[in-house]
Amino acid sequence: MPEFVNFIGGRWVAPETGLTRPNVNPADTSDVIGEFAESGGVDVESAVEAARAAQQGWHDLGPIRRAEHLREAWRLLDQRGEEFARAITREQGKLLSEARGEVQRSLAVLDFTTGEARRLNGVTTPAEEPRTWAFTFRRPIGVVGLITPWNFPLAIPMWKVAPALLAGCPAVFKPSPLTPLTAELLTQVFADAGLPPGVLNLVQGDRPVGEALVAHDAVAGISFTGSVPVGTAIQRAGAHRLLKTQLELGGKNAVVVLDDADLEVAVDAIVKGAFGQAGQRCSATSRVVADSRILDELVDRLAARVSAMRVGPGTDPASDICPVVNEDRLQACLAAVARAQDDGAKVVCGGNAAPDLPDGYYVEPTVLRDVPWDAEIAQEEVFGPVLSVIAADGFDDAMRIANSVRYGMSGTICTRDQSRIFAALDRFEAGMLHVNRPGVGAYAHLPHVGSKQSQHGPPECSPQVWDFYTEWRSACISY
Ligand code: NAD
Repeated sequence: MPEFVNFIGGRWVAPETGLTRPNVNPADTSDVIGEFAESGGVDVESAVEAARAAQQGWHDLGPIRRAEHLREAWRLLDQRGEEFARAITREQGKLLSEARGEVQRSLAVLDFTTGEARRLNGVTTPAEEPRTWAFTFRRPIGVVGLITPWNFPLAIPMWKVAPALLAGCPAVFKPSPLTPLTAELLTQVFADAGLPPGVLNLVQGDRPVGEALVAHDAVAGISFTGSVPVGTAIQRAGAHRLLKTQLELGGKNAVVVLDDADLEVAVDAIVKGAFGQAGQRCSATSRVVADSRILDELVDRLAARVSAMRVGPGTDPASDICPVVNEDRLQACLAAVARAQDDGAKVVCGGNAAPDLPDGYYVEPTVLRDVPWDAEIAQEEVFGPVLSVIAADGFDDAMRIANSVRYGMSGTICTRDQSRIFAALDRFEAGMLHVNRPGVGAYAHLPHVGSKQSQHGPPECSPQVWDFYTEWRSACISY
C-alpha cells in the first residue's frame, strides 16, 4: 500500500502523530488508493514555522519574479494533465470528462494569476502639502492557511495557492481528508517548479489540522472553502484576534422557470446544473422554482431526461452521473429524500441508491415535485443528485421563493422576456447569476462570489482576490 506524507520546509516528511488514514475510490470501494498522513497540531506548528522562515525571501523576490514559478507550475500541470484528471476521478469520483474540465479550469486560474503579477498596482494621488507625493501600494498579509473541501480537489486549492504565492504569502495548505492524492500531486507540481523551501507546505489531515491552523497566532489569514457550520466555527475561533478570513460556503441554488421560457433550454440548464458532479457543487441547482402554468410540462420533460441518465463509474464513458463521494453522503441524500416525502414532496424519479452498483456510492438522479418552499429539502443543502421542484404563482412569487433561503451562491432564470431578465438580475439575492443557461461554472477572471451565508470576505478569482491576500498601505513623501 503506498504511503503519502506531508510537505514541510521543502521536504516530504511523515506526520509527527505517526497516524495515517486510507483513501478509497468512491466508484469501487475495493480500490484503496493509499494511506495518507493524519496529521495534528505539531505538524501544523512545523509547517507554520517553515512558512515564517520563508516569508522575507519570498517577499523580496517581488511579484514578477514570483510569477515565474507559477508559469513553470502551469507548464508542469499541463504536461501531467491526464494524470491529474485520472487521480481526481479515482479519489473524488467525478466523471473523467468533468475531471479534465477541472484541470483546464485550474490551468486558467494559474494563467490569469501569472498575468496579474504586472497589475498589482496602487494609485498616486494629489498631496495636501507642496513638494509631496502621496500614493498607495499593496503588501502581502503574511503566512496564510488554506483549507479546502473535496468536491474540486484541484481547482479550489489552485484558486487559493496561486494567488497566495503570487501575492507573497507563504502558505500552509490543508486539503480535505477525502482527496489527499490530488493535493499531493498539486504540491509536487509547485515543488518541481522550484519554489524555495517553506513557501508552500502541505499538511494532510482533518479537523485537528484545520483548528490548529486557525488558532495559530502567526497565521495572518485563513482562506476556507467548505460548509457553513465549519466556516462560522472558523470565524468564531479567529474573532478574538480579528483573524482575516475568506469563507466560500454552501448554496441552495434556484433555477426560476417562467411561463414564457423555452422549456428545452430550461431542462438542459436544470439537468446540467443539478446532476453534473452528482450535484456536489456549491453552485449546483437544487431547486427549480417553476410557474405553475408550465410546471407539469416541465416536470414531464425533466422526468424523461433524468430517468434516462446512466449512473456509473467516472471512468466509463457511458456514465452520465458519477457516484457521490462516500457512504455518509449517500446516506445523507437518501435520508433527505425520505424527510422530504414526510413533508409532502412526491418522488418523480430516482430516490434510491442505484440497485445494480453495490461496490460504490451511487445515488439515482432524483426529482421531487410538490415540494413546499419552506420544507427542509427546499431550504438546506443536500449536496447530492437531488432536485426539488417548487410551484410559484408568477414572477414576483418565484423571486420571493428563490430568495427565501439563507444561502445566496448562484441564481438562474429561464425566460424570453427582457425586462424580467433585468428585473431578476436586480432582485436575485445571490452572487453568480445566469440567464437561459446552467447555473454552474466559473471563470478565473470573474469573482467567485456569494451573498448572505454563502460567502464572507473578499471573493476568490478575479482581481478582487488581492483584497484578501494583500493589505493596503498609503504613503506620503516630501522632497
Ligand atoms: P467541510 O466544511 O466539512 O470541510 C471543509 C474543510 O474544513 C475540510 O478540509 C475539513 O477537514 C476542514 N475542517 C473541518 N472542521 C474544521 C474546523 N473546525 N476548523 C477548521 N477546518 C475544519 O466541507 P466539505 O464536506 O469538505 O465540502 C462540502 C461543503 O463545501 C459544502 O457545504 C459546499 O457547498 C461547500 N463548497 C463551497 C464552495 C464555494 O466556493 N463556496 C465550493 C465547493 C464546496
